[in-house]
Amino acid sequence: MKPIKTVRLFSNEKPKSIALEKKIRRLLPKYNLEEDPLHYDLGIAIGGDGAFLRMLKKASFERQALYVGINTGTLGFAQEVLPKNVEQFLERISKGDYYQEDITLLSIEVKTPYSVSHFEAYNELTVRDINLRTTRLDLEIEGEILETFVGDGLLISSSNGSTAYNLSLGGSILYPSIHALEITPMAPLNSKSYRNILHSLVIPMELPVILYPKKEKQDLLLSIDGENYRYQEVSSIRIEVSPQVLGLVRLEKNRFVRRIREKFLQD
Ligand code: NAP
Repeated sequence: MKPIKTVRLFSNEKPKSIALEKKIRRLLPKYNLEEDPLHYDLGIAIGGDGAFLRMLKKASFERQALYVGINTGTLGFAQEVLPKNVEQFLERISKGDYYQEDITLLSIEVKTPYSVSHFEAYNELTVRDINLRTTRLDLEIEGEILETFVGDGLLISSSNGSTAYNLSLGGSILYPSIHALEITPMAPLNSKSYRNILHSLVIPMELPVILYPKKEKQDLLLSIDGENYRYQEVSSIRIEVSPQVLGLVRLEKNRFVRRIREKFLQD
């Protein structure tokens, strides 16, 4: 792969992460690497998955750069490097001795009568009633209304986000190389009055999903990678897999199964 020459460091506020950031800064010249916060080949998040999400947001999901994480956090599912291996990591990236994994993000468009807003997400979008009362949404796929969802809300996850909130709601884990959308219901109502699909639905990347809130239920709380946005009078939310991939640095190929085992099954 192309040797990395410039990096940008994105650390969280934890003392352990700040100490590691300083250590990396000291080591950069030894490996012919430079810190450049504007034009960087590689963004490095120091922290847990939260730090990784914040890095991508701060970097505006800029596709020119690659991204990687060093785990000083609690879970660190997205984080590729352990702090004890940081020197070996710097040496390898400086020599181009790494793999690139291309992942897909969610592209989200929110329309109201007064505005159109665009977002990207690494993990997911959740759509709920603004006051956390019952949410009612028409769910359109292939130009057809599949159901009128009634319940707490809907979560739409990317493949990479499938191991996050989606998993806690009983959604399936998707391989990151499956570029898809997963729709997972949040406490769907199911009774004589309301019929909902109770399980996750996985949609191929070429099909957008459109949500239309029912009248009187158009004030919504959207959560995108854990950040909340309140919207009034939402007419539609369109979610699709973004066509432009984003590159992650990996030090080992095909580590997904091992990562699932280590992070979710073993101590
Ligand atoms: P947060 O405290 O930053 O994260 C909650 C947990 O989710 C942390 O353990 C975090 O790992 C882990 N996580 C984040 N992305 C992940 C991924 N792609 N795969 C596996 N685990 C992942 O919470 P937040 O700031 O409210 O929101 C950030 C993310 O947390 C959201 O995008 C959402 O996916 C997730 N979340 C999960 C739940 C739930 O499972 N009930 C509820 C709310 C939010 P680290 O410890 O390494 O940071």
